[in-house]
Amino acid sequence: MAKGTVVIDADGCKGCELCTTVCPQNVLLMAESLNARGYRPAQLVDPAGKCTGCALCAMICPDAVMTVYRFPVVSKTSRQPILAAA
Ligand code: SF4
Ligand code: SF4
Repeated sequence: MAKGTVVIDADGCKGCELCTTVCPQNVLLMAESLNARGYRPAQLVDPAGKCTGCALCAMICPDAVMTVYRFPVVSKTSRQPILAAA
């Protein structure tokens, strides 16, 4: 499965929570602290690396404060050994 991550402009977030409702991996939570505008911003909490970079969160965000990155997938057949026997 693809891997990804999300960078959120916390001070641009208005705390609407829409992104948290669409994330299939449930890795978006609302912060306990307030941002510069007085809202609790969304934050990525993904210690297990579950984000797939699907971008559903960015698509639903009304203020476009989320940037999604998707990491290239290395297939098992294209992997090369780091050390090869001589
Ligand atoms: S890119 Fe997809 S999996 Fe990652 S945080 Fe956004 S909605 Fe969740
Ligand atoms: S959808 Fe956008 S504005 Fe709403 S909580 Fe998520 S990051 Fe913030």
